[in-house]
Amino acid sequence: MIATPANQISKKAASPEGAYIHIPFCTHKCEFCDFAAFAGLIELEDEYCKILCSEIESRLAPRPEPISLRTIFYGGGTPGLIKPENIALIHSQLLKFAEIKSDGQPEIAMETTPHAITMEKAQAWLAIGINRLSIGIESLCDDELTAIGRDHTVAEALTGVKLAQQAGFKNISIDFMYGLPTQTITSWERTLDAALSLAKECPAIEHVSAYGLEIAKNSPLLSRFPRDSASYPSDDLCVQMYELLVAKLEENNYQQYEVSNFARPGFRSEHNLTYWRNAPYFAFGVGAHRYVDSVRSANLRSLKKYMRTPLADEVSENIDQAMFIKEGIMLGLRLLEGIDLQAFQASYGVDLLETQRSEIEFLCREKLLDLSDNKLKITRQGIPISNSIIARLI
Ligand code: SF4
Repeated sequence: MIATPANQISKKAASPEGAYIHIPFCTHKCEFCDFAAFAGLIELEDEYCKILCSEIESRLAPRPEPISLRTIFYGGGTPGLIKPENIALIHSQLLKFAEIKSDGQPEIAMETTPHAITMEKAQAWLAIGINRLSIGIESLCDDELTAIGRDHTVAEALTGVKLAQQAGFKNISIDFMYGLPTQTITSWERTLDAALSLAKECPAIEHVSAYGLEIAKNSPLLSRFPRDSASYPSDDLCVQMYELLVAKLEENNYQQYEVSNFARPGFRSEHNLTYWRNAPYFAFGVGAHRYVDSVRSANLRSLKKYMRTPLADEVSENIDQAMFIKEGIMLGLRLLEGIDLQAFQASYGVDLLETQRSEIEFLCREKLLDLSDNKLKITRQGIPISNSIIARLI
């Protein structure tokens, strides 16, 4: 347990500089997906977007301080599926209550599936001001896409990315998953090689994310592939897949900056860095999670209930000083740059070397943590077991 000074003045109540907007509609519900994402309800799109606009006004209009945003992220669901006019409507509503910070380049990002991309839509997104597209590819093997219940093919994925670049996107992220049923180290290598060839053709692919599959309780995927199914790669194989991912991406100038994220220089996801730096952010839409005024809260996850009461909370938790520090450690160690101990002390009022010395020394001896230049980092060999390392420190 970390001792916390009672009179600590933290930075946690700073005004948010990021906003997340959740668009929950999808063409199809992927079998592994545990997000607030709904298929077959696109007829609710117009009404949902109007309600979301009313939520933005209700939450932002009463705030006393001027709101100035560095990042806006349209996530889902599949924001790319809905009419660009509705994205434009939400965007202009947000900009009625918040200005975009004028220093530096703001990041205005949107998620989409590849088969929702058309030339017309991509150009409309650019005209709205979206300057980063995050495309969920998941795998470049058709059998694996079928196994996890995606409703697009490899060919559609490649076409979608190329269209986005042709339309004029200069900052594209592509997302993958490993640890999938039927996946082997050979098929994963095929996906990575195909992704890197695509990146040669599409230099706008500046960012790659890859997450290990996590299956939620009651996931529909479990009915075809129960947890003990031999179709899943073993834990050891998943570690090999992860190592292959890191090696191939780094060889190709995608620098790892977070456990699951890689970018060419200058193209880290600024919005996601808000989360990892434990900074506050607004959020709007069904099931959206926010961190504002030292409170983490989430909107209702049921679409119908959210549309009736968009300001109601599904959960809400005051983040006290002890939790703030725990989160600072958990999130900070996900970043490859690690935790700057001096900056941590300035922000959180805790000298980790003093409070956690024996654990840190032990983990450094085991080569799972590295402490140099007053920065505490998880080592390459520590990353696959980062959760248990973090658990020892909090
Ligand atoms: S497209 Fe994305 S958000 Fe929609 S169901 Fe599939 S994984 Fe979930």
